[in-house]
Amino acid sequence: MANKMNLWVKQARKKLKIEFGGACSNCGSKAGLQFAHIHPTALSGKGRGRKERILDIRKNRDSYRLLCSTCHSIYDTKEIL
Ligand SMILES: [Zn+2]
Repeated sequence: MANKMNLWVKQARKKLKIEFGGACSNCGSKAGLQFAHIHPTALSGKGRGRKERILDIRKNRDSYRLLCSTCHSIYDTKEIL
């Protein structure tokens, strides 16, 4: 059961990344891509389930950006970009 869910999350994330352009929206890197909150949604913060995060991204596309891990950590600490 858990494995099935992990697979779903993996595939859904992959698809979403492609829909978001498949590269960091700041520097264009394709390594270590993550979804970053740019506007708060009901699901702000860490520690939520991965599935819920995917569904939240699908629902609130304008509230997320696709960033590489480097740009994401800069964004989180300095809130620029
Ligand atoms: Zn980047």
